[in-house]
Amino acid sequence: MTPRGLERADVSIVAGGIIGAVGPDLDEEGEEVDAGGLHVFPGGIDSHVHFNEPGRTEWETIAHGSAALAAGGYTAFIDMPLNNLPVTIDGPAFDAKLDAATRSSVIDFALWGGLVPGNLERLDELVQRGVMGFKAFMCPSGIDEFPACNRHVLGEGMQRIASLGSILLVHAEDPERLHEPRGRTARDFVRSRPPGAELDAIFRAIELAAETGCRLHVVHVSTAEGTVLIQQARERGVDVSGETCPHYLLYVEDDLDRLGGLGKCAPPLRTAADREGLWRMLDDGTLPMVVSDHSPSTLALKQGDDYSKLWGGISGC
Ligand SMILES: [Zn+2]
Repeated sequence: MTPRGLERADVSIVAGGIIGAVGPDLDEEGEEVDAGGLHVFPGGIDSHVHFNEPGRTEWETIAHGSAALAAGGYTAFIDMPLNNLPVTIDGPAFDAKLDAATRSSVIDFALWGGLVPGNLERLDELVQRGVMGFKAFMCPSGIDEFPACNRHVLGEGMQRIASLGSILLVHAEDPERLHEPRGRTARDFVRSRPPGAELDAIFRAIELAAETGCRLHVVHVSTAEGTVLIQQARERGVDVSGETCPHYLLYVEDDLDRLGGLGKCAPPLRTAADREGLWRMLDDGTLPMVVSDHSPSTLALKQGDDYSKLWGGISGC
């Protein structure tokens, strides 16, 4: 499968497992593997996973998560700065994760750093070490060690990240628009995180990106309208992109009756109209990428009577 479509071809693999050439009837030295009748795809890249190592390896290890990706045809991942401990917000934490991933990943990888209140002076050491960019939360992350950025911190962070030539990824939900669930069911949880919270936060993040000139990427967009906001900003010249996840493309709020805690994530699953809208925008190229936002925990953390207390995160690799 090539950018031109499906072709009958040979694939030449050179030293280091690198693809040297793709074309009909290649005449190369060395061992030949007959893959006749099979399809060869480019390896997938999952730029949004939470592999929990070091620190929460009872939830999952990098060895396990990366093996799951490999089984699905993925050859690289970029790991988020949480839910591992310590969270990846300074050089030493980066070194610890690099060590762990080098030891245990079965595929290629890169790491995201974190922007949190108080680590502005640590961003450049993370860039020097090679982070692909930074992730920030506009609302509580669910992990105490990784607090949210208010408007002020986000603005300062964007300025710094722009000057470093890096990129900021935001979890966009406005904390002012979120409220405590009014009951213990999945529906109560969904109601507590309305689509408007996502839209307000995306709008504000785009405003700050336009002011500071910081490249911006909105993670796990759950609504069709959120994607439209991003597209409109792009048309105005703001350097912003977005992504969605398989769960927003496959499931809607009603599926939570069946999925229970396994379907809990934030932002929550939305409506059929959102799902159809996201598919349309994926199809026409408005939405450039789908990532897993793989965020596993122990099964026990996904079970219980009070939905609001369950771990939020879907095991997606
Ligand atoms: Zn995530």
